Amino acid sequence: MYYAELSQMEAKEFAERQLKCPQCGFPLGFAFSDCAGHLKLKCRKCKSISVLNFAYFRRQRGVRRRIT
Ligand SMILES: [Zn+2]
Repeated sequence: MYYAELSQMEAKEFAERQLKCPQCGFPLGFAFSDCAGHLKLKCRKCKSISVLNFAYFRRQRGVRRRIT
């Protein structure tokens, strides 16, 4: 329980990015901005297995977003 609470506290400092299935757009979960590497996820909706690279998600931070 302690580690679960600690992890949640740490995660508040990071930007959250929603991971979506590249095939159908179904939400698969969330990635935080400190995530690195690749994750293999199976979509519950279309049953396709996708490999996602966190490097493509961590750059999009809410605080840096600029409207031009
Ligand atoms: Zn899908």
